[in-house]
Amino acid sequence: MMTTKYEKNDFRIHEYPIYPTNVQQNLLAARFDQEDSAYNTLAGHVNQSYSQGAGLEELKALVQNHPIPTENEVDHFAITQVRKRIISLLPRLCSGKITCIKLRRTDRSQRSARYHYVGISDYHLVLPVIGSIAMEQHRDLPKGARIYGATVYADCYHAFYHVALHLIVPQQPVDPVPIHYSKVVGLDYAQDGLYVDSSGHCAGYPAFRHQAQDKLNRCHRAANRFKTGSRRWRKFRQRAAKIERHVVNQRKDWQYKQAHALAQQYDAVCVETLDLAGMMQNEPALSGKLCDNAPAAFYKRLEQVLNAQGKRLIRVDRYYPSSQICSACGRKVGKLPMDSAFTCPYCGLSLDRNHNAARNIREEGLRQMEQ
Ligand SMILES: [Zn+2]
Repeated sequence: MMTTKYEKNDFRIHEYPIYPTNVQQNLLAARFDQEDSAYNTLAGHVNQSYSQGAGLEELKALVQNHPIPTENEVDHFAITQVRKRIISLLPRLCSGKITCIKLRRTDRSQRSARYHYVGISDYHLVLPVIGSIAMEQHRDLPKGARIYGATVYADCYHAFYHVALHLIVPQQPVDPVPIHYSKVVGLDYAQDGLYVDSSGHCAGYPAFRHQAQDKLNRCHRAANRFKTGSRRWRKFRQRAAKIERHVVNQRKDWQYKQAHALAQQYDAVCVETLDLAGMMQNEPALSGKLCDNAPAAFYKRLEQVLNAQGKRLIRVDRYYPSSQICSACGRKVGKLPMDSAFTCPYCGLSLDRNHNAARNIREEGLRQMEQ
C-alpha cells in the first residue's frame, strides 16, 4: 500500500510569549509593514484588473507573476504566503460574494508575519536577520516535534508579542474506543453559559469578556483624554490590549478544561453545526455574547481532545430542527418564540428549551452513528 509522507504526522501549534528588545521591535515592525505593502500592492492590481473585466485564471496568473521589488531569498516564503492568501480570495471575488479585496491597514488590532526558517535554543527564538529573541517557553515541545515555521504576532500598540510555532509531530496511533449508548451526550448552544447538555446541565461559562468590560471602558476613556499617538495615550491603549489578550487566554483555558472534563465522562459528544454568520446578522444585539462564547472554537478544541483519546465528536446538520421537535414523543411542534420554555401540545412535555434541543441533538447524533 502506498503511504504519503504526511500520513503519520500531526500538525500542531504551540504559542509562547516573546520579549523583543526595542531594536528587535523595530525590525519586526518593518517586516509587518513589508508583508502588508506586498499584500496591498497585489490586492490593488487584482482589484483594478477585476474592474476591467479579467477572469479567474487571468487574475491568478497576475498574482503569481507580478514581481514584488522587496522580494529576496529570506522573504520569499512570506511573499509566497501573501500570494496564496490572495489566490484563496479570488473565487469569492469572481463569484460576486465580495466586491473587492480589502486592503490591509497598518492600525489593525493584530499584526503578524510568517517565518520559514526558525529555531529555538535556551528559551530564545531565533529568527533570520533579527537574531535571538527572549521567549517564555512555559511548556516543552511534544516528543519528536519538528518546527517547520512560525508566525510572530503583535498588537498594533506593541503591548505584547507572541509566537506561534508550527510543529510536525509523529502521530501516536490511538485505537477507537467502543461507544456505549449511555455514554453519549448532546450539547445545545445557549447564549448564557455556552451550552446545555442532554441531561439539563448548563456549562456555566463565566463570560470573561463581559466581566472585563468595565476595566476596558476605563482604559479607553483614559486613553481618550490624551492626544492620539502620544506616550500616555499609547500607555492606556496598551493596557486595554493586555486585558483583551488576558480574556483570550482565560477563555482558551476554560474551554480546554471543559473539553477534558467532557472527554473523561463521555465516549461521544453530539453538537449542532452553527450558522454563526447568520446568527450575527439576525440578532446583532447578541453578537457580542456570541463572540464571547466562541462556540466554534470550543467545538474545535473539544474535537481535538476527544480524537486524542480515540473518541468522537458528531456534528449534526444545522438544518436539523432540534428546537422544534418534542424530545418525548418526536412530533414537530413548529417554531417557538425565543426565551421560552418548551411545551408540547401533543404529550404535554414541559422542558427548558435548550434541554429539549440537546436531547434531540443526542438522538440525531446516535442515528447518524448507526448509519
Ligand atoms: Zn410531545
